[in-house]
Amino acid sequence: MASVQMKKVSKIYDGKVTAIKDADIFIEDRDFVVLVGPSGCGKSTLLRMVAGLEEISSGEIYIDDKLVNEVAPKDRDIAMVFQNYALYPHMTVFDNMAFGLKLRKFPKEEIRERVSEAARILDIEKLLDRKPKALSGGQRQRVALGRAIVRKPKVFLFDEPLSNLDAKLRVQMRIEINRLHHKLQTTMIYVTHDQVEAMTMGDRIVVLKDGLIQQVDSPLKLYNDPVNRFVAGFIGSPSMNFIEGELVRNGNLQFKSKIFNFDIPEEISKKLRESTGKEVILGVRPEHLYDVSLATDKELSTPQKIQVDVVEPIGNEIFVYFSEGSQSYCMRMSPDKLHEAGEKIGIGIDLKKVFFFDAATEERIG
Ligand code: ADP
Repeated sequence: MASVQMKKVSKIYDGKVTAIKDADIFIEDRDFVVLVGPSGCGKSTLLRMVAGLEEISSGEIYIDDKLVNEVAPKDRDIAMVFQNYALYPHMTVFDNMAFGLKLRKFPKEEIRERVSEAARILDIEKLLDRKPKALSGGQRQRVALGRAIVRKPKVFLFDEPLSNLDAKLRVQMRIEINRLHHKLQTTMIYVTHDQVEAMTMGDRIVVLKDGLIQQVDSPLKLYNDPVNRFVAGFIGSPSMNFIEGELVRNGNLQFKSKIFNFDIPEEISKKLRESTGKEVILGVRPEHLYDVSLATDKELSTPQKIQVDVVEPIGNEIFVYFSEGSQSYCMRMSPDKLHEAGEKIGIGIDLKKVFFFDAATEERIG
């Protein structure tokens, strides 16, 4: 078990592509940390630098208190699980799992014990004699996990390990990896581009964009307290709605836009005072927009008439889409009432749940 620390870690490929810039992350012993961000944001590069598969351009990486910048991957006491499983096709499941231990000259009996134990944890005991081609995608991924477990590494690294699985299996394996983390109590770093996967697996999540860390927080803190528009829009599905407008003083502080206009409640307006006259972006999550006729108990903004474009009845909830100009918005509704496309309804925003971002910097201001 170990902590992992990255201090001002940067990676520049070929002297020109900055993949990661000044990453500072401290991962405590036994933590499950997820690196998440859109494709190309640098998350794999960061993970590969921890693994030792990629040279560090500048900065320092420590595993426990040991500086590992110059330590070979095999001597870092880590195990990595990849998206493509990377199993040896000509070897049985047993031999695939045992391979790393054989290389390290473990005694035969200990290899057998460790492989049996991992196979039991992963429920693949019956598959030990099969070759990878006779396994399903989920079973192959379990073998890849098993191969990492038998090493009893200080740190597990996962690089999009579930991307090749279908949606249902992904959910199942996600739960299994969570369970594995509880059982093994080992430090884990997990890379994914899927924010739902990140939210459901990480104790803490590192959100990356263009090689820069945007925010490091628990899943719910990211959801409820995003530091900027990028994090606010990236976390949550369907995404937060963004409405461009401005803050004007007309007695009270008001938000004015093409679609919503309302007085800003006192508690928030204190924070926004300095931004009076500025262009801002209002952020509202789909669940904080209401049909005013159905939400009489909420403190809502002045009702706005909209016309429903599309209705998606998921079952336990319903997504209603409407638009203003080229901008589309989404509201999440309870399944008690099914609206229809073309219907006109009055909607309001829960004023206790709004976010404001500076239109120029996109930083959160309220
Ligand atoms: P992610 O895992 O978030 O999709 P990567 O870490 O793979 O992102 O890549 C980050 C950036 O670095 C991208 O712009 C990518 O094109 C670039 N990159 C990755 N690997 C290399 C490489 N071997 N040589 C040059 N550029 C690379």
